[in-house]
Amino acid sequence: MRTLTTMALALWNTLVGMGITIKNMLLRPRITLQYPDERHSLPIGSRGIPVLLSDEQGELKCIVCELCEKICPVRIIEIKWHRDDQTRKKVLDEFNLDASRCMLCGLCAEVCPAEAIAMSDHYELASFDLPSLVYDKEKLQQLGLPQKTPIVNFAIKTEG
Ligand code: SF4
Ligand code: SF4
Repeated sequence: MRTLTTMALALWNTLVGMGITIKNMLLRPRITLQYPDERHSLPIGSRGIPVLLSDEQGELKCIVCELCEKICPVRIIEIKWHRDDQTRKKVLDEFNLDASRCMLCGLCAEVCPAEAIAMSDHYELASFDLPSLVYDKEKLQQLGLPQKTPIVNFAIKTEG
């Protein structure tokens, strides 16, 4: 008799649990996403890694002032340049950024006088190959191409 009671109780508990599950499944709105097939859109102010921005002609806006390299607290920006013999202007040869060590502080975007570097919405950096996370200027430019207007420039800029 006692075994039968235990079995009946177990069955009842199972049915109650299934009832709750089915009710939630059918009546409640879904709040989870099937990542990575589905993604939340990031709110303005979210910060992914910095990217390089281009002008209307598709040229990098960077004027090679090196301020971002100097201000980066973790020293992960490396800039190499030479001076053009004729124009005497600085020419950007290399702009490398180690995305694996970026702490997304936004200081590089904040200090840039040419609005040439901006915080992006690119945050998916998982990789088994750490060296591949050192992005060169071509990669940073490519990542920055969709960011043409301030509305999608994720940099935290102070006014004035
Ligand atoms: S966001 Fe901060 S840590 Fe990352 S590159 Fe810019 S200054 Fe360096
Ligand atoms: S602060 Fe801006 S303009 Fe200066 S080197 Fe960095 S990206 Fe280029």
